[in-house]
Amino acid sequence: MRNSIVITELIWQEGIDILSNVGEVMYDPELWKKDNLHNIVSKATALIVRNQTQVNESLINNADNLKVIGRLGVGLDNIDLESAKKRNISVVFAKNANATSVTEYVLSAILSFSRKMDLATFDVKRGNWNRKKFTLHEAYNKTLGLIGIGEISSRLASRAKSLGMNIIGYDPFVAPYEFAISDIGVQLKSYEEVLSMSDFISIHVPLNESTRYMINKDSFSKMKPSSYIINTSRGGIIKENDLNEALSSGLISGAALDVFEHEPPYGSPLLNQENVILTPHIAGLTEEAQVRTSCLVATEVANILQGAPSTCLAC
Ligand code: NAD
Repeated sequence: MRNSIVITELIWQEGIDILSNVGEVMYDPELWKKDNLHNIVSKATALIVRNQTQVNESLINNADNLKVIGRLGVGLDNIDLESAKKRNISVVFAKNANATSVTEYVLSAILSFSRKMDLATFDVKRGNWNRKKFTLHEAYNKTLGLIGIGEISSRLASRAKSLGMNIIGYDPFVAPYEFAISDIGVQLKSYEEVLSMSDFISIHVPLNESTRYMINKDSFSKMKPSSYIINTSRGGIIKENDLNEALSSGLISGAALDVFEHEPPYGSPLLNQENVILTPHIAGLTEEAQVRTSCLVATEVANILQGAPSTCLAC
């Protein structure tokens, strides 16, 4: 029987070309929100998703022939891994394929907060010439605090080092001899130390029960009033109401959010804050990263369907 490969969200053509060699591809980038999702997935041997498709127990158990789930990205919080494991279904993901893009997004946010070029441009366009107002700060010699020291943080640390930043980080699961600490020179600190010592805090942890709302009212009270927080990780790690209060009361100076508790964040009070950068979950979305992601996941799914091992297995 020919493999039936169902793709429910956006994939680049390069990925479809790879998958077409090993099965019949059914591609609908809007399928994730349609009523016939369960019906179509029920016949699939492979299912490929981004982060919108809720791959829950009922979707998985309804698909008798399902052998592999491919996630076109890194976060796995929309996939019920336990249910996949019980059914012996492999889950593969785009390990590290968009890490460089996320890294560059964070660097952009740091430089944007430091120099405010967009606000200066807006001001000049309005006929002003405020050189004093836009005399701002260097990133050089500032402290970047990393919450979670995994793949993205390591790439970010090596690039931020070249800007002359001091890098500290908190991650209870990394040992002192891992690359970021021993070779790049990230200094391991406690969670409280990262909060209180950093000029910029960048979050790079998965969303799970231990990280949900780990940045809250208490965390903001420990941060420098001049500091900025950047979240490219997942909505729900920062408690947004507490962030809004922290910004309004001057507990911190600004925030860059690529991810939100509810996406899109319709009605969020953060939309009315001035000192925020808000983007539609695009930190990992560049042309380069999407070609890499599509090709990597397509290749890994094709490998599993053909009985070959995968290097990007989540379970
Ligand atoms: P990674 O798995 O390489 O690193 C995550 C790190 O977090 C690990 O070192 C782990 O030990 C650490 N960690 C786990 N729980 C922790 C805790 N309670 N406290 C401190 N550290 C903890 O992941 P990565 O590739 O660096 O990606 C990080 C996250 O970024 C992903 O989980 C994903 O949700 C998100 N992401 C977002 C985008 C985007 O477009 N916005 C793109 C890619 C990844």
